[in-house]
Amino acid sequence: MIVRGRERRRDLRLDVDAAVVGSGAGGAMMARELSARGLRVALLEMGGHHRPADFTAVEADMLEELFQERGARATRDLSVRVLQGRGVGGSTVHNTCLCKRAPAELLARWKREHAVSGASPAELDPAYAATEQELGVRELGPDDLNRNNALFRRGVEALGYRGGFLHHNRAGCRGAGYCELGCPFDAKQNALKVLVPAALEHGAWVVSDARVERVETRRGRARGVSGSLLDALGRPHARFEVDARVVCLAASAVGSAALHARSGLPDPSGLAGTTLRLHPGGVVAGLFDEEVVGWRGVPQSYECTEFLSFAEDAAKRRVWLVPVFAHPIGTAVQLSGFGAAHGELMRRYRHVAAVTAMVHDTTRGRVRVEASGRIRIDYWPNHDDRAQLALGLREGARILLAAGARRVLVPFEPDPLWIDDAAGLAAIDAAAIRRHRLPLTAVHPMGTLPLGDDPARAVVDSRGEHHAVGGLFVCDGSLFPTSLGVPPQLSIYSFARHLAPHVAAAC
Ligand SMILES: Cc1cc2nc3c(=O)[nH]c(=O)nc-3n(C[C@H](O)[C@H](O)[C@H](O)COP(=O)(O)OP(=O)(O)OC[C@H]3O[C@@H](n4cnc5c(N)ncnc54)[C@H](O)[C@@H]3O)c2cc1C
Repeated sequence: MIVRGRERRRDLRLDVDAAVVGSGAGGAMMARELSARGLRVALLEMGGHHRPADFTAVEADMLEELFQERGARATRDLSVRVLQGRGVGGSTVHNTCLCKRAPAELLARWKREHAVSGASPAELDPAYAATEQELGVRELGPDDLNRNNALFRRGVEALGYRGGFLHHNRAGCRGAGYCELGCPFDAKQNALKVLVPAALEHGAWVVSDARVERVETRRGRARGVSGSLLDALGRPHARFEVDARVVCLAASAVGSAALHARSGLPDPSGLAGTTLRLHPGGVVAGLFDEEVVGWRGVPQSYECTEFLSFAEDAAKRRVWLVPVFAHPIGTAVQLSGFGAAHGELMRRYRHVAAVTAMVHDTTRGRVRVEASGRIRIDYWPNHDDRAQLALGLREGARILLAAGARRVLVPFEPDPLWIDDAAGLAAIDAAAIRRHRLPLTAVHPMGTLPLGDDPARAVVDSRGEHHAVGGLFVCDGSLFPTSLGVPPQLSIYSFARHLAPHVAAAC
């Protein structure tokens, strides 16, 4: 049953086996898995419930409708922009469909250093394999490369770096290039298209515009959630209460940690909300004589993993390189300067190819809730992560030059750094990565309610259940005890699937 909170002005009360908070990768998978087992499920989502026709590809409108804080979520000091989804399907609605399993070396480290059990590659394989099949994950090929990605590949190959095609969960893609604004052609095999309809078929309640404000507990056990139904402008206009035997937090690494704090839940390890990882990323842009028209086609189809390793001795190679492209508003906020100089750069938009360097970070950020109720994110990459960022930007620039870029721009503020040849690359070093001097963006928040069997070092156990609150589970990106180093959605979907039998057993 679908309830659109923005259209309902009356209070709502539900009595279910499981209340799932947030309908992104983790929440939609959990809701589908539990409802398929015959359990009564309420999937509660603070954003709207959209259809493909609602995805108008108008950037300003979609930022407002599909992203947290209208696309303006950022760390408190505004040094890192944090892009996250809001709406049924969560961040899977506007992500770029990259799918990668968690590296085996990383899972081994989680077992060794974080007491995570039951999550070896072999133990996770059934969940990964089933998710890949269900979401139609396949490896892309040369025909899927747009010009931006083809130039990147040319540079990677010219330098002899390790690169390869990415795997995606898209089918029937028309290459329109509006992935980050929601797919009007419904080609994404994501939570909104695949899992939420399946949960509905199994009898789940899907309540949109329903902001959960509190996890209710009694005698140390979760017993439900409560919150506000929001109108189309996001203002509360009715209340809801859901009684449940089990509550699953899937409101994202930021949203779940905030709800944990807001609800005043016990936190024996003191870790809740204090281990935020972001995969912070910076961008370099190459100016080409030819037209690149990077906004057309599949945005990200090829990767460079030359500087990313998960081996024990790989601390110095923690940066992943991939082409990136933004629509005009996104590009404008990334570019340096103002006025005429900024306008001049924007006029070259058709000729730009861009690369992002994303760090497999070790920094611990924080998610808190201010007295006003507003979410506060504190994060600034530590020295080692800034060094990795500098390495990535240098190598991204080198790749663009090798691909034939006339010049490469590093969008430092207030004045960009222009690099004309390899000799100029040394100017990008860790010291140059300073707050507000280089715009950073994060699209992979994770790790705020980490799992592990030692209650002193983890918030939830390896089955996803809270160490101090019975019947409270976590099933989103908050779970990861370190940053993942690869795009997280496939692991989030698959962990939720993997943990679902434990949640079902607790209902
Ligand atoms: C632009 C962009 C591109 C990306 N591209 C990729 C990619 O190609 N591959 C990849 O692996 N990852 C990608 N990601 C990241 C990926 O989409 C996320 O890591 C993943 O969706 C996170 O899953 P989640 O379940 O933790 O949270 P989300 O998918 O973010 O879902 C959380 C949901 O909870 C809701 N919520 C929050 N608070 C509350 C509350 N109090 N009450 C009710 N509901 C609440 C939110 O509105 C949201 O819908 C991208 C992200 C962005 C922003």
